[in-house]
Amino acid sequence: MKATEPASKFVKVRCPKCKNEQIIFGKASTEVKCLVCGKSVAEPTGGKARIKSKILEVLE
Ligand SMILES: [Zn+2]
Repeated sequence: MKATEPASKFVKVRCPKCKNEQIIFGKASTEVKCLVCGKSVAEPTGGKARIKSKILEVLE
């Protein structure tokens, strides 16, 4: 087993469109959309999510 990578943690992101802040899983296997405006904030790239919005905080 590999050590836990930062991307496997939960991260707090801010939607670039409406500034809504939400917590998402850094290893999301499906597209994650903003809960408010529906803009895609992260998309899966074979294992770890590519975060497409500003990461405010990485939660342990
Ligand atoms: Zn939004």
